[in-house]
Amino acid sequence: MADDNWKITSYSRKYDFENVIFCNDNATGLKAVIAIHDTTLGPAAGGCRMWTYSTEWDAVEDAMRLARGMTYKYAAAGLNLGGGKTVIIGDPKRDKSESLFRALGRFLERLGGIYLTGEDVGTTLRDMEYIANETRYVITLPKSFGGAGPIGGATAYGVIQGMQAAVMKDRKTESLEGLTVVVQGLGAVGYEVVKQLNSMGAKLVVSDIDKEKVNAIQEKFHVDVVSPLEVYDSPMDIFSPCALGGILNQDTIKRLKCSIVAGSANNQLKTEEDGYAVERKGIIYVPDFVLNAGGTIYDTDRIFHGSHEHERAMEKVGRIKETVKKVFELSEAEKIPTFLAADRLAEKRILEVGNAKKIRTQAGSTLLST
Ligand code: NAD
Repeated sequence: MADDNWKITSYSRKYDFENVIFCNDNATGLKAVIAIHDTTLGPAAGGCRMWTYSTEWDAVEDAMRLARGMTYKYAAAGLNLGGGKTVIIGDPKRDKSESLFRALGRFLERLGGIYLTGEDVGTTLRDMEYIANETRYVITLPKSFGGAGPIGGATAYGVIQGMQAAVMKDRKTESLEGLTVVVQGLGAVGYEVVKQLNSMGAKLVVSDIDKEKVNAIQEKFHVDVVSPLEVYDSPMDIFSPCALGGILNQDTIKRLKCSIVAGSANNQLKTEEDGYAVERKGIIYVPDFVLNAGGTIYDTDRIFHGSHEHERAMEKVGRIKETVKKVFELSEAEKIPTFLAADRLAEKRILEVGNAKKIRTQAGSTLLST
């Protein structure tokens, strides 16, 4: 079964996927894959990526890998959502059109709400508006369309809540005052992390490959700047990666002189072995998918309540601090690195909620009730 002719089946079996759906529409040029990993906790959700994949399998694997990641993110965040993802095969600079997104919207409508989509790499809020003309099953929308609007601030708030839990573990106080934090990447999240940490009295060192972003931050806040290549050697208490994945690797871990890594970037550990290496070095690593869930917690608030409410959504984002504490407790109790403890926490919740759901809540014959 593991040979190249059965890749989708093998991957599905290995990670227990529910659906992999291919959507084709010649008229609009749409070619898309929707992967639905696990709906134990609720309907699957996850963004829509548009990318120029070189092979069909690259696209399918990306959709499946990302969908599985969403299952873990929602489970750990305590949300009643499963993991899903869409990838559109195409060049976001050349191949976008209103009709392409509307065609995708019609396919999503056909799925009847078992999967909800949103913005991701290569797609924008405008694209989501097009999809929303055809279906209700879109999460990320501008405020004017009933959505939550930009989510970078909520993601940053979640990052800082988790950072405080790590500081508490390290120093027995939550205060960030006087601590040196290096922020790598000053985009939607990094900018907000700097802004919020600045108001909490942290000493800030920033880095970005984009000089304009660095200048904009320097104009507003008192920060030191370090070049992208030297960022790992900079003296610091906390490293906050808010740019790229794979930045915790064989080369960088030995250079880091911090006691905590807590940032928003996805897939920070290049390999599992790097997760063990960080642990061996005595660095407290706050697992990325737990820490960066704030944006999606904020964004999905309206699914559960009918409309978006800022205060309620931010209150839920604030719970990331408790989740991070639970990850630390599990890591200590089971003597495993924090990245594994985060996976276990998510898996445990899916199993336990799944067990509770075995209790029938409707009367009727087996044939008619679910
Ligand atoms: P963004 O594209 O707005 O910003 C990324 C910034 O990183 C840019 O300013 C870019 O110039 C900079 N950058 C790229 N390479 C760099 C390097 N080598 N050194 C320093 N800076 C570099 O992205 P974002 O929305 O702020 O997201 C940042 C990270 O957090 C990404 O990994 C993203 O997947 C993750 N994330 C974001 C959100 C969100 O709410 N936006 C939610 C969860 C996770």
